[in-house]
Amino acid sequence: MGQELHEKISVLSGAAKYDASCATSGSSGFNNKAGNMGTTLPSGVCHSWTQDGRCVSLLKVLYSNVCKYDCAYCVNRASADVKRSSFTVKELAELTSEFYRRNYIEGLFLSSGIFADPDIVMEKLTETAKTLRTEMGFGGYIHLKLIPGTGEKMIREAGKWADRLSVNIELPTEKSLLSLAPEKSKKDIIGAMNDFSNVRCETEEAQYKSKFLPQGKTLSPWFAPAGQSTQLIVGATGEDDRQIINLTSSLYNKFFLKRVYYSAFVHPGQRSTAGNYIDPRLPVTAGPPLVREHRLYQADWLLRFYHFKVNEILTDEHPFLDMHLDPKTMWALNKLDFFPIEVNRADYETLMRIPGIGAKTARRIIENRRSRSLTIENLHRIGATLKRARYFLTANGNYIEKPDDPVRIRRLLSDTDGAGLQLPLFEF
Ligand code: SF4
Repeated sequence: MGQELHEKISVLSGAAKYDASCATSGSSGFNNKAGNMGTTLPSGVCHSWTQDGRCVSLLKVLYSNVCKYDCAYCVNRASADVKRSSFTVKELAELTSEFYRRNYIEGLFLSSGIFADPDIVMEKLTETAKTLRTEMGFGGYIHLKLIPGTGEKMIREAGKWADRLSVNIELPTEKSLLSLAPEKSKKDIIGAMNDFSNVRCETEEAQYKSKFLPQGKTLSPWFAPAGQSTQLIVGATGEDDRQIINLTSSLYNKFFLKRVYYSAFVHPGQRSTAGNYIDPRLPVTAGPPLVREHRLYQADWLLRFYHFKVNEILTDEHPFLDMHLDPKTMWALNKLDFFPIEVNRADYETLMRIPGIGAKTARRIIENRRSRSLTIENLHRIGATLKRARYFLTANGNYIEKPDDPVRIRRLLSDTDGAGLQLPLFEF
């Protein structure tokens, strides 16, 4: 590999590292392969997990870090004093193919600075994916970022070659977008999401109709089967968690998003083409709000898998998530009259409302109680986290511990350091 290409990889993989929305969940892929963990590449590769728990590695780069826009939070903004570089379609396709053949990666996550009209930038990303698929027989996973403002025709084309497309919502409100990313507009971002879901619906309908066609005929071969996702920056602007979770909920409902990714605001370097300065548009922070990011992921999980409504998690009076308690425990402590739940009678949805009992454990409880009446000891063996569940359930009418003192329970269940990062995301 030539020195020049090596330098491009270094610049353009470093420039891509702030995008968190590269997980591959939901992909069936163009002949996606298993294995290939543990790459030793120093940068430019992110590890992601599929829905079935496989770890896959993606080459994560920008096509170009030249950008006309000046989003205050971004290291690649027009006014930033950083080294600029761009790939060509051929270079990037060959590089990806070569890394894939050497088992360094299983896929590509490709984004770009906005160096030209959105359709032109998107065309380059799409051409790269198309070259990989048609000329290099690339069967790996491809995730392309949609550039806000890209037209429907180009989105349709991009989806022919990519497993997943995503456009970043960036900030929770139009007002925030205007203050930190004035060249971007909610209309363009939402427009791209909307176009995606319309084409996706069309594709699904065509696929359904294809079932009735003579064998071997199909109406619609491929459109981003792993769906769309988005990323939202947390803590760069003043919105509360309720606004964020409300937005998330409406995005899931309207545009069938697979995932919303939350990215704790990281201060970009302060050097600019005008010399060192502090951008007055950005908040002064001690560090990225990681605990908040984590709590938002947990609240998001409650919406998607536990069927909670936004107003059950957050209200006008309490618009922020508790930094010391996971949101399900927070909800349960505010709703003690809903408990205790008798594990030998409650339905699946109700069981999942108990802190310490997730979807898997709730299913096991239902399976196990078919043959016998469950005791507290059985629950422990089934996998319930009794440290949290103990105050909220009964087995055959027996409590483990009555929730007589909510203040004490709250103290016992709090993460003492406030970090909460050890809490499991899946069963809480
Ligand atoms: S559009 Fe904004 S976020 Fe995207 S690369 Fe350019 S400056 Fe960064």
